[in-house]
Amino acid sequence: MKILFKNIDIITADRTAPYIKNGNVGISGDRIAFVNASDDVIASFGPDRVIDGKNKLLMPGLVNAHTHSAMTLLRNLADDLALEEWLTTKIFPAEAKMTPEDVYWGTMLGIAEMIKSGTTAFADMYIHMDEVAKAVVESGIRANLCRNPIKVIEGEKLEIKNYIDGRFEYFMKWNGAANGRIKVYVEVHSTYLFNEETLMLSAELAKHYGTGIHIHLLETVKERKESIINYGMDSVEICEKCGILDVPVLAAHCVHLSDNDINILKEKKVSVVHNPTSNLKLGSGIAPVPRMLKEGILVALGTDGASSNNNLNMFEEINMAALLHKGVYMSPELINAEQAVCMATINGSKTIGFGDITGCIKEGMKADIVILNTDKPHLCPLNNPISAVAYAAQASDVDTVIVDGRILMENRELKTIDEEMIKHRVRDITKRIRV
Ligand SMILES: [Zn+2]
Repeated sequence: MKILFKNIDIITADRTAPYIKNGNVGISGDRIAFVNASDDVIASFGPDRVIDGKNKLLMPGLVNAHTHSAMTLLRNLADDLALEEWLTTKIFPAEAKMTPEDVYWGTMLGIAEMIKSGTTAFADMYIHMDEVAKAVVESGIRANLCRNPIKVIEGEKLEIKNYIDGRFEYFMKWNGAANGRIKVYVEVHSTYLFNEETLMLSAELAKHYGTGIHIHLLETVKERKESIINYGMDSVEICEKCGILDVPVLAAHCVHLSDNDINILKEKKVSVVHNPTSNLKLGSGIAPVPRMLKEGILVALGTDGASSNNNLNMFEEINMAALLHKGVYMSPELINAEQAVCMATINGSKTIGFGDITGCIKEGMKADIVILNTDKPHLCPLNNPISAVAYAAQASDVDTVIVDGRILMENRELKTIDEEMIKHRVRDITKRIRV
């Protein structure tokens, strides 16, 4: 299918042309055929559909670089508690009751919410990951999924599953599936749920399969203290020692970093996912994002799960990231609108392993695109569209979402997901699993 957007304002997130006024974009199959082409090119394009861009803003799809999408099942269930109490008394007992099918419906709800708020790709870490992959295939969204390489025995002892020598079935089954919309990483939940041996084996596993690792890193002060007690070094240092940082790493949080940690993350080219809302809600602290950006560390944005946020709305994360550090450091120059938008688009795409094919509006890239309706009082006058996205836009301004050249939502109507049925199923599930 060929689609032509004409007379449309474009945020490219491509450094060479961050904003184009009144331009055009052609999509052919799953790719962007051209951006701002000449009249001759447009005349010979022969689109199946022409969409007029009046009062519309076209931009790269948002990337939610760290979430647990099926935690939508636990939304608004346990709030205003300390992380450990929240996990042990509320989240883990409810998760223990979840079936694979529950995770499928929770993920579908999360994907519906993400598409409706302009997200075209996400990185997910959770249980029953085959169901998550199934939901990604059916919904048409793009995702980085990871699989835990360890199993817990008798509640305490960890044992690595022997995935080396062709037995990392999840990777074999899903990596590159759905026209390349799925990428599989190794899950290392955290250094506190692993030990030195399983950290090393996980690094070996990722190297063997030529893939990356998704990890929670230094989310809390407690994690840092306990790591020093247990390993004699903090979580970043033990990861470096065990080879975890020798592969592409998607590190969520990174709130409590030492100077040495920042040097290691920079040297090892670790991508950090800033989850400002979740870190605030759980009282974990505020990641030193301005410092990381200054050091040239790639920083993306994520919502984390819906039970510590409590939604999967990336517009809120862009807004929070752009405001939070200004207030904390009393410096309005920190994290400008363009940086915040890039964190949620091109940086996110690189962080979750799709940087060579998505993340900006450029000829030859995959067509992962969102269109905002700017004919709204809070977006009038538009003046600076990048500022509008960072400081004024709402998730409900997203009108159309395209992933891999396929329209997943148009005029706010989901095309691949039965939203009413999903909400109905999830309401039933939550009655059964909540504690
Ligand atoms: Zn998380």
